[in-house]
Amino acid sequence: MTPESHPCALSRREFLGFAAGAGLVLSSLTTLSGLADLSGTAAFAAEGPVFAMPPLPYAENALEPYISARTISFHYGKHTKAYYDNANELLKAVNPAPTSLEAVFLAAGKDPAALALFNNAAQACNHTFYWKGLTPGGPKAPTGRLAELITASFGDFEAMKKELAATSVSQFASGWGWLVQDGDRLAVVKTPNAANPLQNGQKPLVTVDVWEHAYYLDYQNRRADYVKAVLDNLVNWDVAAANLG
Ligand code: MN
Repeated sequence: MTPESHPCALSRREFLGFAAGAGLVLSSLTTLSGLADLSGTAAFAAEGPVFAMPPLPYAENALEPYISARTISFHYGKHTKAYYDNANELLKAVNPAPTSLEAVFLAAGKDPAALALFNNAAQACNHTFYWKGLTPGGPKAPTGRLAELITASFGDFEAMKKELAATSVSQFASGWGWLVQDGDRLAVVKTPNAANPLQNGQKPLVTVDVWEHAYYLDYQNRRADYVKAVLDNLVNWDVAAANLG
């Protein structure tokens, strides 16, 4: 599976299909949560990982000096990998195999018995979205339709960045800051832990990981400095524009 075709990169058509697909996956998740017959064989365990972690779209040291290679070696190589490994392990018991990690976490998020699957599948998606949304050399500001929507929704680009920074910094403990598309408008939101705006019908455009593992090696307790560095230097605005529905 190529990064371009990875299910964490959503087309509008895929996004709109979630509502229908989630119910189907939820019914299959009853197997996982012990509500149905567990005697069936794992459908795809012999095939290896169901959802392969996409490679980083740049070298581990490419985001320096803003995010160090050491941070990425842990954050991508250990944390992100663990979310994929854990989600795949939990999905071994689900038959038929789901085709989309988004569908998995949207369904699991509605099933209290599937909390571990929700946390790991959503975090796998959140991290792939985060890594794909950063770049060492992209444009430092959006253009075209995304720029127009930002102006319409926030006044101007700097006002949007200020709100996204403040919202990300204010997330209590672990979580994420997001620029999202919500109907015809853009909005800034934050989510705790593994939660994703798709659960509220909002389409993510940009995210900032504010779990301490994202910045503590480089910035210690200075979360605001990390968030500012990401927003001013690393966000890939071309990817953000491509995320528009
Ligand atoms: Mn993280």
